[in-house]
Amino acid sequence: MEENFDLLVIGGGPGGYVCAIRAAQLGLKAGCIESRGTLGGTCLNIGCIPSKSLLNSSELFFKAKNNFDNLGIETGEIKLNLKKMMTNKSKSVQILTKGVEFLFKKNKVSYIKGKGVLFSKNHVVVYQDNKKTSYKAKNIVIATGSSSLSLSGINIDEKNIISSTGALSLEKVPQNLVVIGGGYIGLEMGSVWARLGSKVTVIEFLDHITPGMDREISKEFEKILTKQGIKFELNSKVTTVKTLQDKLMVQFINNNTKAQENLECDKVLVSVGRKPYTEGLNLSKIGVKKDDKGRIEVSKKFQTSISNIFAIGDVIEGPMLAHKAEDEGIAVAEIIDGQAGHVNYNVIPGVVYTSPEVATVGKTEEQLKKNQVNYKVGKFSLIANSRAKTINETEGFVKILADSKTDKVLGVHMIGSNAGELIAEMALAMEFGASSEDIARTCHAHPTFSEAIKESALAVDKRAIHS
Ligand SMILES: Cc1cc2nc3c(=O)[nH]c(=O)nc-3n(C[C@H](O)[C@H](O)[C@H](O)COP(=O)(O)OP(=O)(O)OC[C@H]3O[C@@H](n4cnc5c(N)ncnc54)[C@H](O)[C@@H]3O)c2cc1C
Repeated sequence: MEENFDLLVIGGGPGGYVCAIRAAQLGLKAGCIESRGTLGGTCLNIGCIPSKSLLNSSELFFKAKNNFDNLGIETGEIKLNLKKMMTNKSKSVQILTKGVEFLFKKNKVSYIKGKGVLFSKNHVVVYQDNKKTSYKAKNIVIATGSSSLSLSGINIDEKNIISSTGALSLEKVPQNLVVIGGGYIGLEMGSVWARLGSKVTVIEFLDHITPGMDREISKEFEKILTKQGIKFELNSKVTTVKTLQDKLMVQFINNNTKAQENLECDKVLVSVGRKPYTEGLNLSKIGVKKDDKGRIEVSKKFQTSISNIFAIGDVIEGPMLAHKAEDEGIAVAEIIDGQAGHVNYNVIPGVVYTSPEVATVGKTEEQLKKNQVNYKVGKFSLIANSRAKTINETEGFVKILADSKTDKVLGVHMIGSNAGELIAEMALAMEFGASSEDIARTCHAHPTFSEAIKESALAVDKRAIHS
């Protein structure tokens, strides 16, 4: 007999699993369908979690090799055991994905293994190992996420031409790695392999890295990564990747000069963005509409063109980030329960977990200019921050953008050690509608990196103390 659900979620990533748990907390009978074999989606399996594990291990390796001596720590020869590093990464993934299974049991969410296909507006059929099971649901949430994009004519084989998934599991450090695309995923994975010994070249179509980021931060970021040994070919379009005997040849054209260049390497990481994943869902048959970018169209309440079918996360518009998907998961469960679920898209932080980290929330200077908003800028460099000095991590700065008239904080952008943790203070401040004055008058512990935030808030009205 068919099982009946109040809410069935298709996709067990951070959008889907969080939605199912929240729905169950609210007393709804909830189930979550996942085809991968493990819960947690892209984020836990092949995204945020394994990449942060490798970023941490590779940073420690690099520091042990290059910085310890300056601190008076003498070691023997520092050697890389890549297999062990990968095992450690896999362990974190396994523990966390199993953790989501435990949370499902604890909250009485049914974990349905297999590929979900919409059969009607209230029916989902799940295919698993030649078995077909039909489920009935009052409400359905599509949270099927995204998959890597490639460029036309370049076939990702996950051996030599790899996506981020292949870059998370290389068995050998490539001598030369070419990264196509200077977005955050390419830069994070490029940093990992550069620290472990690869010569990394990033080829980016635009004349700057990290598109969409505040330009002053992105310039500083490029400078710092260049100092770390990563080479950038900006304003350049990759045309082909040819396989030579045991090497690859990347051909690219400079957009300005039209000069063609060739780069030989062992591996090519294609990191040119991600696309919404809706394959095999049967959307058009049911009447769920997509936009011209392949994203599922939703209302402000996450309703698709079929009112009891909702969509969240990477498969809809907005930044492809795990915490955005999670917040949408919570909001949609609450909306289905009759509450006013809501996501504030003005305050979604973004972090690049390189060394130093880059973190941003709210509007960039370019966006404020475009929208003709008058703003003031407060900046404070980490070179004048005492904590940064004590740990020799003085690269970077904090920049606060505040409304000229009301002083309300409109955006915060930082590059520096711990920026990824510090941005939470600014997201909270912005949620509460803080002014730069509010932040400047908040007591910040000494010596901490957070004092740079206070100083940049003081700098909005040109009264920073330590610069
Ligand atoms: C290398 C990398 C690093 C990243 N780092 C970060 C980071 O540091 N911070 C951050 O915020 N974001 C990061 N992201 C992005 C983040 O992983 C995504 O934004 C997030 O996972 C999106 O969540 P989601 O629930 O929408 O979809 P997903 O996590 O993609 O989950 C969707 C799930 O649905 C399943 N599925 C699809 N179709 C079906 C079907 N028909 N039936 C059953 N199951 C189905 C898939 O198997 C998948 O498990 C990173 C991504 C990558 C690739």
